[in-house]
Amino acid sequence: MAEAATPHLLVIPFPAHGHMLPLLDLCHLLSTRHGLTITIVVTPGNLPTLSPILSSSPSISPLILPFPSSPYIPTGVENTYQVPPNLIRNFIPALSGLLYPILQWFHSHPNPPVAILSDFFTSAWTFRLAQSLSIPRLSFSPSGAFGIATIHQLWREMPSNSDPNLLIPFPSLPNSPSFPLSQLSTLFRDYIKGDSVSESIKENFLLDIQSWGFVVNTFSDLEGDYIEQLKKDIAAGHRRIWAVGPLVASPVERKTDAVIKEKVLTWLDGFPEGSVVYVCFGSQVVPPPQQAAAISAALELSGLRFLWCVREGTEVPAGFEERVAARGFVVKGWAPQVEILGHAAVGWFLTHCGWNSVIEAVVAGVALLTWPHGADQFIDARLLEDAGMAVRVAEGRSTVPEAQELARILAAAVGGRNSRVRERAAEISEMAKKAVAEGGSSFRDLHSLVAELKKMTVANEQSYAELPAFKNLI
Ligand code: UDP
Repeated sequence: MAEAATPHLLVIPFPAHGHMLPLLDLCHLLSTRHGLTITIVVTPGNLPTLSPILSSSPSISPLILPFPSSPYIPTGVENTYQVPPNLIRNFIPALSGLLYPILQWFHSHPNPPVAILSDFFTSAWTFRLAQSLSIPRLSFSPSGAFGIATIHQLWREMPSNSDPNLLIPFPSLPNSPSFPLSQLSTLFRDYIKGDSVSESIKENFLLDIQSWGFVVNTFSDLEGDYIEQLKKDIAAGHRRIWAVGPLVASPVERKTDAVIKEKVLTWLDGFPEGSVVYVCFGSQVVPPPQQAAAISAALELSGLRFLWCVREGTEVPAGFEERVAARGFVVKGWAPQVEILGHAAVGWFLTHCGWNSVIEAVVAGVALLTWPHGADQFIDARLLEDAGMAVRVAEGRSTVPEAQELARILAAAVGGRNSRVRERAAEISEMAKKAVAEGGSSFRDLHSLVAELKKMTVANEQSYAELPAFKNLI
């Protein structure tokens, strides 16, 4: 079989920053390093996030479709950062309205895609789309392998979700971990039998498990045992899992405010190596006022040097910025996180443990002060704590810690006694860099994924129907 030079891939992101950014980094690699032709499905409100990749990667084009009208999403909303956390789950059924417009586009295209790579929050309808088109569908996971393994087990086994203290064991995973239900997937905990949004989320994950292939933003030295276990567990053990991360090692330039970036990096230049704590809770979280007050008081009392990124809507107490000006800086709005973590002055990161934040800190060799909130974040925190590069300082989305106590914990974590934690962060960062460098595990996985996609150009419908995981569902 001859290899075609440029297979055409259809990429379908989920409209949340923590999902889109790593998938765009992957598209960038597939386009600039491997010459793939890529079409990315996007709605008009999310087009600005794509503008850096569209200008830097000529083989990537957008397929711009109106955001589907849905009873689950307020009119005018197109991205999860525009809604409170309880509405994020509604995007999962709402996006299925894109199925028919994409089908029509596909049938009118002179060189249609050979495969679909879509976010794991779009699994149900993109699985069906791929079925109708008789092409394979690969699931992109913005979570790590440990995170996905736990999410899949929850939806497969459906333990009772009524007792938050119920201890859920994961006996097939390395070291047989267990977690109280309250620390596991928020989407699963919010499941209500018979409720239409809940049922579509359940179907989403059950079909995710059936995906033809999986692409995960992780690397073998960090999660090798979990990746192996996933290979055994998923869809009759077909083993088509590619761990290609950390994707942020070669990121697409992100849309940031140049003035804020300049200010922040210049401010950091004034401090010694590893002396500043970066504080940020991702792209979604707006701490409730009492929590924001406790965080600001703790940062002030701790005496630490810090850079605190607050989202619009977070209340910073009057006079706070002036009082801490000599050692603290507050960024309001979108922070250039990757650049901040990469600055030599930053040694610690107080984080909610979203997987992207974690993996960005891993690449930068920055130690973590963990405050997991929900989703897969308790899993991420445990992984990095066990790996020795993180220290737990708080937990829970709505917890309001006592300010003196949080200040004491932060100061103790950062204050010298934990130099081994920073050393571990540096060691793991080296592993991450090796994974994506030529010959590394993620470098090899990316090549193997591309080789598979190139075969698809010349494969025909029949050859995919013959594959067991796919055949069962056609
Ligand atoms: N991010 C950023 N600036 C901000 C807030 C977030 O660049 O002010 C980026 C961050 O670098 C990461 C993503 O947004 O890539 C957030 O993803 P994560 O998985 O950490 O958390 P989520 O926002 O999904 O909860």
